[in-house]
Amino acid sequence: MEQHAQGPIGDRTQAIESSLDQLRSRIARSAIESGRTAEDVQLVCVSKGQEDPALRAALLAGERIFGENRVQEAARKWPALKTEFGPVELHLIGPLQTNKLREALALFDVIETLDRPRLAEALAREFRAGSRQPKLFIEVNTGREPQKAGILPEDADAFIAFCRSDCGLEIEGLMCIPPADQQASPHFALLSQIAARNAIAYLSMGMSADYELGIQLGATHVRVGSAIFGARTQV
Ligand SMILES: *Cc1c(COP(=O)(O)O)cnc(C)c1O
Repeated sequence: MEQHAQGPIGDRTQAIESSLDQLRSRIARSAIESGRTAEDVQLVCVSKGQEDPALRAALLAGERIFGENRVQEAARKWPALKTEFGPVELHLIGPLQTNKLREALALFDVIETLDRPRLAEALAREFRAGSRQPKLFIEVNTGREPQKAGILPEDADAFIAFCRSDCGLEIEGLMCIPPADQQASPHFALLSQIAARNAIAYLSMGMSADYELGIQLGATHVRVGSAIFGARTQV
């Protein structure tokens, strides 16, 4: 191991800070190139698999929007940090099982993965019973991948209508995760079309490898993990 003045934790903190600096300027540039402003695009720092020192580094660098893919992991990591750092906007970006629903509603500010009628019904029930009401994004399986969550693109309009009319839910955004082995742009374009024809304002699309493309195609939220925190050992 090399010796560094600040030790490994200090180095990691600095690395995260400088990754964030770079990322913010690239996001701003992409936003401006696509005729918008930096403020039109929210950076969701994907902190799944990251522990306290890394989360702190991002918080100290000024980030307040984070994405987690597991309810349990987020419940373990975030309450103490919220007490210490003040309000943080937490996004659930992984699948939501109905047996974790109450815990998720207590913890998350945005649920990006509404993906099935039964979950919409369960959310509506909890909201009616007086639960906190996170913002809701619908996940669309634009690549029609069997192993992936999300509503199929051809079912999206009907599902959005079902959520709104039958369940009384406000749908604020759409989210997609394009197939890893394909060009992302057709998937982003498809998501953007579904949002436009359903008057949905927010588009969560683009990760470390393709957030600039996401922004060019209208993303209002990009979900970036490894470009901030480095490669993950677990997903
Ligand atoms: C892990 C994950 C990301 C971030 O991926 P990176 O390639 O590390 O930026 C974004 N969205 C979802 C849904 C994820 O699970």
